[in-house]
Amino acid sequence: METTFTIGNKSFVLDEDKAEEAFAAKRVINGRHTMAFNLLPLKYQWAYDIYRSMKANHWEPEDVPMQKDIEQWQSDQLSEQERWIIRMGIGYFSAAEGIVGDNVLHVVREMVTAPELKLVLGRHAHEENIHADSLLYMISSLGINPHECEAMFEQIPTILRKNEFVTKVSQSLRRETDLTTVENKQLLAKNIFVFGQCMEGTQFYGLFGMILSLYRQNKFPGIGQMFRYTLRDESNHIEVFRNLFMDLIEENQEIWNADFREELRELMREAVRLEKEFIEDCLPTNAVGLSSGEFTQYIDYIADRRLVGVGLEPLNSGVENPLPWLAELMDISKEQNFFEGRVTEYQKASALEAVSDDDL
Ligand code: FE
Ligand code: MN
Repeated sequence: METTFTIGNKSFVLDEDKAEEAFAAKRVINGRHTMAFNLLPLKYQWAYDIYRSMKANHWEPEDVPMQKDIEQWQSDQLSEQERWIIRMGIGYFSAAEGIVGDNVLHVVREMVTAPELKLVLGRHAHEENIHADSLLYMISSLGINPHECEAMFEQIPTILRKNEFVTKVSQSLRRETDLTTVENKQLLAKNIFVFGQCMEGTQFYGLFGMILSLYRQNKFPGIGQMFRYTLRDESNHIEVFRNLFMDLIEENQEIWNADFREELRELMREAVRLEKEFIEDCLPTNAVGLSSGEFTQYIDYIADRRLVGVGLEPLNSGVENPLPWLAELMDISKEQNFFEGRVTEYQKASALEAVSDDDL
């Protein structure tokens, strides 16, 4: 069907079939390559919806006051164990946020072809920059030597192993990779699964739980608040990668066989094992209100939710959530008074509702 627009003495003929062809040519991978960033017509509506929700959640580290945290850090009220959790949190995430952002930009965003997917991935990478920046803000506020953080991800073996676990599914993929073979399609699917469900979806949650547990006891209110914002962002990232994974599988069903599904479950099993070892390093002694057993059980619980979310069998079905309060702390939208100023304005500016936090 053609539509003609006549403006003055000029006429323009637009062919609707062309738009439909463009829509049909959109694919997660191996779609039409075009220099135009043609978002419309949208094929992956979820990508645009999550993008809107991410924008509505925009925050900047400097919006969060750190005075109380600085006073506590300098006082003698804290145990060595509590300080160690903060150091491990800052040390691990300083490396991890950068690794995620790099993978989003240089692997996944380069390999997908539909513009609305590139749009949401660009925002995802930007949020990793905000997270990295928030850690820098924490380090400089508390006066921690930046070399200590650098040393942590080189010298603490449990951090090193978690990082190696993810970078090994990232290094072999680049823009030039031929994505028409089953093997390479599976490599990309594995990457999206490992980063979204194993790393951001599971391996981030040991420390999230510990830091928010301190926050609940009124320790490190500024750091806790930044981690709450980060956690809210991460739930969008997990959702982006979950949808991306599901659509990739849907469009390339030849890769979804029993062996591959088992391989993915095995990767999650390894992620869980690494995270439990890491939790033992974060909590060598059971401090007040913090027991490593609860956090390791939480990892089993959350890992199964991630597996089920992408259509895989759980590893330990029936494990209960030992930290029900964590979901409540996540639900920032309930706090009427917190959002004054900038953050509220961003939220009002968006007509779309936020993605629900129920994936915790
Ligand atoms: Fe992040
Ligand atoms: Mn993330």
